[in-house]
Amino acid sequence: MKVFTRLVNLIILLIILFTGSPTAFATSLKVGIYQNHPKVFVDEKGTPKGFLVDVMNEIAKREGWTVEYIHGTWNENIEKLENFEIDVLLDVSFSEERARRFRLNQIFVIDDWIEIFVPSNSPLESVLGLEGKRVAVLEGSIQEEFIRQEVKSKFNINFDVVSFADYASTVDALNKTHVDVIVASRFFYFSKERENNIWPSSLILRPSYTFFAFPKNQKDEVVMAFDNHMMDLKNDSESAYYSSIKEWIRPIHQRNYRKIFLLIGFIVSAVTIAGIAFIITLRHRINIRTKHLNKQNKEIQAINLKLEKLVQEYKHTEQELLKFRFMVENARQEVYLIKPNGQVEYANHSVYSSLGYSSEEIAKGGVKLFDPVYGNSYEDHFNELKRHEVPAFETVHITKGGRKLDKVIKSFYLVFDNEEFICAFAEDITQQKKAKKALHESQLLFKTLAEMSPVGIFRTRADGYTTYVNPKWCELSGLPYGEALGDGWINAVHPSDKELVRNNWKERTSKGIQSTAEYRFIRPDGRIVWVLGLAKPEWDGETITGYIGTITDITEQKNAELLLKQRAQEIEEQNKEYRRLNEELSTAKAKAEESDKLKSTFLANMSHEIRTPMNAICGFSRLLERSTLDERKRSEYVDIINTNSQQLLGIINDIVDISKIESGQVSLSTKEVDLNTMIENVVSTLTPTLSTRNVRLEFTHKLAPPQSKVITDEIKLQQVLTNLLVNAIKFTKEGTIEVSYSLKDESTLEFTVRDTGIGIAKENISQIFERFHQVEGSSVDSRKGTGLGLPISKGFVELMGGSIWVESEVGKGSCFGVTLPYSPADYKSSSKTTGSKTASNWLGKTILVVEDDVHTQFFLKEVLADTGVSIISVDDGEKAVKQCRENKSIDLVLMDIKLPKMNGLEATKKIRKFRQSLPIIAQSAHAFSSDSEKAFEAGCNAFITKPIDAKELYEKISQYLGS
Ligand code: ADP
Repeated sequence: MKVFTRLVNLIILLIILFTGSPTAFATSLKVGIYQNHPKVFVDEKGTPKGFLVDVMNEIAKREGWTVEYIHGTWNENIEKLENFEIDVLLDVSFSEERARRFRLNQIFVIDDWIEIFVPSNSPLESVLGLEGKRVAVLEGSIQEEFIRQEVKSKFNINFDVVSFADYASTVDALNKTHVDVIVASRFFYFSKERENNIWPSSLILRPSYTFFAFPKNQKDEVVMAFDNHMMDLKNDSESAYYSSIKEWIRPIHQRNYRKIFLLIGFIVSAVTIAGIAFIITLRHRINIRTKHLNKQNKEIQAINLKLEKLVQEYKHTEQELLKFRFMVENARQEVYLIKPNGQVEYANHSVYSSLGYSSEEIAKGGVKLFDPVYGNSYEDHFNELKRHEVPAFETVHITKGGRKLDKVIKSFYLVFDNEEFICAFAEDITQQKKAKKALHESQLLFKTLAEMSPVGIFRTRADGYTTYVNPKWCELSGLPYGEALGDGWINAVHPSDKELVRNNWKERTSKGIQSTAEYRFIRPDGRIVWVLGLAKPEWDGETITGYIGTITDITEQKNAELLLKQRAQEIEEQNKEYRRLNEELSTAKAKAEESDKLKSTFLANMSHEIRTPMNAICGFSRLLERSTLDERKRSEYVDIINTNSQQLLGIINDIVDISKIESGQVSLSTKEVDLNTMIENVVSTLTPTLSTRNVRLEFTHKLAPPQSKVITDEIKLQQVLTNLLVNAIKFTKEGTIEVSYSLKDESTLEFTVRDTGIGIAKENISQIFERFHQVEGSSVDSRKGTGLGLPISKGFVELMGGSIWVESEVGKGSCFGVTLPYSPADYKSSSKTTGSKTASNWLGKTILVVEDDVHTQFFLKEVLADTGVSIISVDDGEKAVKQCRENKSIDLVLMDIKLPKMNGLEATKKIRKFRQSLPIIAQSAHAFSSDSEKAFEAGCNAFITKPIDAKELYEKISQYLGS
């Protein structure tokens, strides 16, 4: 293809030659030059000169171009050409690579060759002499490319290549012996850079041709113009081309002894001329001979190369042998080379150090010396080995000292130089065997212990995978051995513990730390086994190889723990109960103490309250006995006795009332009551007690009749209001006491008793309605009283379906209030009034008084004396019955209940048998409702309590005897 391209170019050139000049296409050229005397260079004045410059100038002159020379190093020029910065580069030797990179003209400018230049004092005989040398070349030159890429491989030699930017530097390096030779263009010989001591060696490496080089884009016309002129110049012996060659291509330096040669040459020239003919004749023959010699020389060189190679190979093999011998000699393994008869041909150091025999002893004694068993059957072994490979086997070697060593032998059959051998390698396994035995024993021990162990044992890999469990482990878990391995063991763990145990185990094994866990196995028979699991990592020095662990049956312990826990809980609960009871007891005790205290206070008060009126009664009763008393004094004494009797009765009534309230025996006895009359009566009864004090008692708000008439238990309501007013009077030194009532709403009545007395402290308010309670130290007067007034009032009010309350401020006064359901009386039908009777006329009537107490008998007789009634008195039940049977004139019986011989109830029952209509009024000091009920049951018509109120007695009798 290249040949074809060149041919085409040549044809184009010829066409141009014959058709006209291409000068019209170019006017100025940039030409790259560098320092390579005498071909191209710039002199001291900076003028480009040299053979190629002359040729360039001649072509430019002929074409009419102007030329601009650009100076640089060779490499710079190459670069510029590539970058289109110059149009032409001079002195470009042909190479494939350059032909690819640039355009080259067709007709070479001058022929050239690559030659080796050497210092005059060290000539070079052949190219092979370059071996190991340092070779200087022009950087980027064709010489560099050639010497680097081809010479080494072609001639199979090695040398260093050093590149320099110009010839001056290469010469300098040679002079300083930094390099040994210079490889350059043949024109270097003519260069002024070459110094006199540097001479061509006549060793030509390769011919070459010099061209003009152009950038790739250079126009064809320009390149062809160059070829056109080159052809002209070369064909004309008178041309500037040849005159320039003459001028520049001539040696500058000559050897010192050249003149002598010239002289001698001159002398002998005649002889030479004469011999020329002879020489010319011989030349042909010499040429042939030289060619032949050159061929032989090349062959010898090739043989030499081969020999050198062989020697090198031999040396290499010898080195290798020495290496292997050293290795075998010093190998840790024992190496034997044994003849078929058992004689030891070779043994390495390990053999002697293991067996203790000298080389002579082993050479003499053979295998039998140290291996009696194997040595005696050596021939058999040899023959077997010869037939086929024999696996490694164990034997026992006996050392010179008589020690037995376990060895493992591997033998090979070998033939060297037609001689047969066994090559055996032996390794001392005595320690290994001992260790193995110890390991076996230890394993056996472990197995025995593991099988006998009363605790479960398990072993795992480092990742927690179970590899072993002992029989006890299987017994505790209920899992067969095979199912326990791997992760199978978790299947036996109780479902409630599974997650925890698995996670705990995973965490511990991932961290490589000891693990402890308590968990349950659930066996196939349903039995639950509690175990304590412990596992420890097993180390091989640096890493964990696995875990070994135990599981201990702690079922009994766990059950005991559970029992203990249960017991502790029970005890705790019992303790709680005890504490609660204790608290209750403490509260009860406190209450009892409080109650006791109250009781003591009450008794003290009671004693005081009873003794005071009793004192007056007893005292003035005695004074009444005096005969000297006038009527006024007597009446005064009787009043005092009456007042104190009433006071005493009030106390007794209070006690009875509170007892009745507490035992739930109070019943209501309602009737129509005019509240205004009732309250006015109370106020008028109490007003005299205020005569000595600056206190006003007022009935302020009331309802007008008929609203004031209600159905209620008059006695109880009157008692409540009296209690409140008595207290108000007791605790008010001065000011006012107001009593009032109104309708709170249409169904509720509200009574209030307001005073301006001492008031009650807040902390005491809640207690004053409790029985026996008095505000301590409130006033001296507060000590007077039983502390029963308010509790009785509260009891009565609540019984009537109402409530009682108080508002009070210490020093300002109190306001007690009572609310009651309002039930107005039907005033049309409620005109019934019970008039009071002071005395009646029962003349002609007979009353039987059944009474064992003579004073009461006397009292009744006295009370009834004014009525004209006849009185018969008996003192027991039997007599009463008898009288009633025998005396038909008896109109009414006043029957005491508590009687000797036969009580009142029995007597009444008997009387009822024969006198059903006879009115019998029971009289009793027993005040409970049950007493009256019993009396009615026995057949009594009415019931009257002691002390007998005369008024009430008259009223009751009037009902039967008429008034
Ligand atoms: P007593 O028989 O002691 O009056 P009460 O049950 O009637 O018993 O009253 C209890 C206590 O309440 C009195 O001792 C007194 O300390 C206080 N108290 C009652 N009424 C009044 C009042 N109007 N003003 C001040 N204190 C009162």
